[in-house]
Amino acid sequence: MRDLKTFFIKTYGCQMNELDSEIMMGQLVSRGLSRIEDENAADLLIFNTCSIRDLAERKAMGKLGRLGHSLQKNVVIGVTGCMANAKKETLFQKLPHLDFVLGTNNIHDLNTVLDEVLASGKLTIRTDDQFSHELDYIGAHRDDKVKAFVSIIRGCDKFCTYCVVPYTRGPEVSREPDSILEECKQLAAQGYKEVTLLGQNVNSYGKDRPEFKTLFHDLLYRIDAIEGIERVRFMTSHPVDITRELMEAIRDLKSLCEFVHFPLQAGSDRILKKMHRIYTVDQYMEKVQMLRDLVPNVVLGTDIIVGFPTETEEEFQQTYEWLKKIRYDTAFLFAYSPRKGTPAMRWKDDIPEEVKNDRLQRLLKLQEEISAEQRQAFLGTTVEVLVEKQNFKNEALLKGRTRCWKSVLFPGDPSIIGTLQKIKVHSYSHQTLLGEIEVREALKLI
Ligand code: SF4
Repeated sequence: MRDLKTFFIKTYGCQMNELDSEIMMGQLVSRGLSRIEDENAADLLIFNTCSIRDLAERKAMGKLGRLGHSLQKNVVIGVTGCMANAKKETLFQKLPHLDFVLGTNNIHDLNTVLDEVLASGKLTIRTDDQFSHELDYIGAHRDDKVKAFVSIIRGCDKFCTYCVVPYTRGPEVSREPDSILEECKQLAAQGYKEVTLLGQNVNSYGKDRPEFKTLFHDLLYRIDAIEGIERVRFMTSHPVDITRELMEAIRDLKSLCEFVHFPLQAGSDRILKKMHRIYTVDQYMEKVQMLRDLVPNVVLGTDIIVGFPTETEEEFQQTYEWLKKIRYDTAFLFAYSPRKGTPAMRWKDDIPEEVKNDRLQRLLKLQEEISAEQRQAFLGTTVEVLVEKQNFKNEALLKGRTRCWKSVLFPGDPSIIGTLQKIKVHSYSHQTLLGEIEVREALKLI
């Protein structure tokens, strides 16, 4: 049997994939393997992939294809993540150097699959349609020592017509609340200060398991009571499931950050219907208004897709006007790309690429203008920052985020990593606020 001593793991895509990689790393470390950053020197290579956009898939496929030419003998190579579920056995045909394919709902089985591959040398595949196992979250191998992702629900029942997630991750499966709380308590005991609760639609939490008697907002109240967790975030939300109770929790809970990712996707009711988003713009705006009334300092993020099949210039203009009116702090803007296996794939991708790109550029420009005005408004103000790490490019600077997810850089000693600091903002760069520790706070520290 081949002996595996080292592994290299590359993660594509969303935070859920990052967490899945951390869980797989935990399994590999417990097996005695060490992680290395040099893919050419590792005994085991894992590519944890994403299928959400065509570009993400092409990047991973390109990387995996090139790897076939340079692989050493005896290296074990596996594909995990959404592409594993989307492409299944066809991956072995396209990439004959693969040893195993492990879907999003099977990552608990990594070590068993490795044993099989090593013992038999046969290609191995596990791609269940539904998540049905408790994972070893506690054993996850986290690089970050200040913030941690915590999975609370997996899968999605919404079936937006452009999205592969319900097919690659399966239906919604909520995790036991006691298991989530236990993990959060352990994270707090290890010194973690911030948790981000993860799910494709966290607001659905508990609806599939009435016996838990715990909906999303109930869970938030219970996590808020854990000593040591200073900040709680959640990602991501479907507007339909954002309730008044959740908004009140954001208003009332000390740890819960005033940042809500509130994906609009399109500003035209016809396109929203075609996307199967199950809300109209008016219904969406009612919720935005309710949230802003209850939590005046709330900050919003969004996702928007331009160039969805049949989108007219007038309908794009509606999206443009809503972006201008709502003024999100963060906007992930994309040009539509058809995804295999989705209902939208049946429709002609009829918006020419140059038109999609032109619409995307116009939205990006607008969002950049809004973001620049928002950054300008921070000048001279003092913000509370959770200090996360030293800046990669200049270690004399520390990096952290505000409660509303603004990135902040300031000079400071690494000993304050993991603490909350008041930072006076004096300037900003492209995406980041720049400042100094407020003098009163600095004196207090001495
Ligand atoms: S809510 Fe829609 S876009 Fe989000 S994961 Fe579910 S199907 Fe995909």
